[in-house]
Amino acid sequence: MKSFDVVVIGGGPGGYVAAIRCAQLGLSTACVESWLNDDNQPVLGGTCLNVGCIPSKALLDSSHHFSFIKHEAKEHGINVAGVAMDVHRMIERKKSIVQTLTQGIAGLFRKNKIEWLKGHGRFISENQIEVRPVGEDGGDAFPVTAKHIIIATGSVPMTIPPAQVDDNLIVDSTGALAFTDVPRRLGVIGAGVIGLELGSVWNRLGAEVVVLEALDDFLAPVDRQLANEAEKLLRKQGLDIRLGAKVTGTGCNNREVTITYEQDEAKQQIVVDKLIVAVGRKPNTQGLGAREVGIELDQRGFIEVDGLCCTTLPNVYAIGDVVRGPMLAHKASEEGVAVAERIAGKPGHINYDAIPWVIYTWPEIAWVGKTEHELKAEGVDYRVGSFPIAASGRARAMGEVDGRIKMISDAHTDRILGVHILGPNASELISEAVVAVEFDGSSEDIARTIHAHPTLAEALHEAALAVDKRSIHF
Ligand code: FAD
Ligand code: AMP
Repeated sequence: MKSFDVVVIGGGPGGYVAAIRCAQLGLSTACVESWLNDDNQPVLGGTCLNVGCIPSKALLDSSHHFSFIKHEAKEHGINVAGVAMDVHRMIERKKSIVQTLTQGIAGLFRKNKIEWLKGHGRFISENQIEVRPVGEDGGDAFPVTAKHIIIATGSVPMTIPPAQVDDNLIVDSTGALAFTDVPRRLGVIGAGVIGLELGSVWNRLGAEVVVLEALDDFLAPVDRQLANEAEKLLRKQGLDIRLGAKVTGTGCNNREVTITYEQDEAKQQIVVDKLIVAVGRKPNTQGLGAREVGIELDQRGFIEVDGLCCTTLPNVYAIGDVVRGPMLAHKASEEGVAVAERIAGKPGHINYDAIPWVIYTWPEIAWVGKTEHELKAEGVDYRVGSFPIAASGRARAMGEVDGRIKMISDAHTDRILGVHILGPNASELISEAVVAVEFDGSSEDIARTIHAHPTLAEALHEAALAVDKRSIHF
C-alpha cells in the first residue's frame, strides 16, 4: 500500500497550494483529485481554475474590451467599424487559458514530486483514504495511508427548488461560462458576486439582463455608500436589478423560461431565454466519508475546524471553501500554506482580518477590513477619509471617472480598520491597503508614503490624507 506523510484531498487553490508547500518542506505528498474536464481528462485546479475565478475573469476581460470598443473607443479618437462579437472564439480563448493554467499546476506537481492520484478520495479510517480512479484509464479502487490528511474538497453551486438547473435553459455559474450565443433576454437569480460578474459579461455583449435579488439591500456586505454608487452605475450599464424580488417558481418550454417572483407582496413574471442561478455555494463533502470516521460537520455541512484548521481528528485538517470563512481562492491557498507549515512543525500564519474581497464588475469593487456599518454596530470611534476617483489625474487620462476610495481608521490610534474601493483596477489597488492592515498600519503611514504620479494609487494616498482632512486634490 502506498504511504505518504501527507495526502491532500482536492486539487483546487486550497489543495494544490497545500500540496506544493508540503513538498517544499520535505514531506512526501500526494493529492487526490477527481475533476474531469469537458474532454473527460483529469485536471487539477478545482473550481477556481476550471469554472471559477479564471474563466470568469477571461470572459469579463473579453466582454470589457468589446464594450470599450463599442462605447468608449470613439472618445479616444478610435473609430472602429463593423464591431461584432464571436462568442465561439471568446469561449475557445477562455478554454485555452484554463488549459494552460491547469497544465501548469500539473507541471508544478512534477517539479515538486507530488503524486497526483486521479480519482475520488474517501476516508476509510482516520489515516487511510480509498482512491476510486476516474477518467479513461480508470482501474480498481486502491487504499493509501497518510500520517496527515488535508481536506480541500471545496464547494459546489447551491440550488433552489423553484429553479432547477437543467443545463440547457436554466444553468448555474458553470453553464453561464459556456453559453454558445449571447442570449437576447437573460435572467439572473442572485445579485451576489457571481451573479453580478456573469450578468455583467452577457450584458456587455448585448443581452437584456434582469437580476432578481431576494434581499432589499444591494450587496449587503459592501460599504453602503459604495454599494449605492455601484448599483447606480450597473443600472446605467443596463443591468435591470430588482431588489426584494424572491423567485418562487420557473416554467420552461423548449425555448424560454418563465420566472415567477414576489416583490412588494405582489406576484410578478418575466420571460427570458436563459436563466442563471447564482444563489451561492455550499461545502462539498459528497462521498468523502468524513462523518463516518468521526470528523464533525456543522449544521450547514461545513467541516468543523478550529482557528488553525484542525478538524475533530488530530491528524486531519480542512481548508478552503469546505470550512467556515469567506469562499475565496486566496483564503483557501493561505490556509493551505499555514496547514502545511504546521504539519512541518512551523508556526503557520493566517490573518483572517486582512483578507481582501473583490467583485470584478466595472468599476471593480474591493475592500479589506470593516465597513462603517459594522464599526457603528460595534460602537467603535472611527474617522473616514473619502476621495472621488474623478479627482485623480490618471483616472481622467484613462477616461475612468466613476467611484471613490474610502479609508476608515481608529479615531484614537489611527490604525486602519477598513479600506473600500469602487473604481478602475480596484482589485490591484486593494493590495496596498491589505499590506497596511497586515502591518497594523495607520492612515498616517499611507499619507507619508510617496506614491508615483500619475497613478490610480494616488487616490488611495489622497483618501489617507482625507482621514486627517488634508487631502490635496479634493
Ligand atoms: P475548489 O476550488 O472547489 O476545489 C476543490 C477540489 O476538490 C475540486 O477540484 C474537486 O474536484 C475536488 N474534490 C472534491 N471532493 C473530492 C474527493 N472526495 N476526492 C477527490 N477530489 C475531490 N474566488 C476568488 O477568490 N476570486 C474570484 O474572482 C472568484 N471568482 C469565482 C467565480 C466563479 C464563477 C466561481 C464559481 C467561484 C469564484 N471564486 C472566486 C471562488 C473560488 O473559486 C473558490 O473560493 C475556490 O476555488 C475554493 O478553493 P478550494 O480549494 O477550497 O475548492
Ligand atoms: P452570494 O451568496 O454572494 O453568491 O449571493 C447569492 C444571492 O442570491 C444572495 O444575495 C441571496 O439573497 C440571493 N438569493 C437566494 N435565493 C434567492 C431567491 N429565491 N430569489 C432571489 N434571490 C435569491
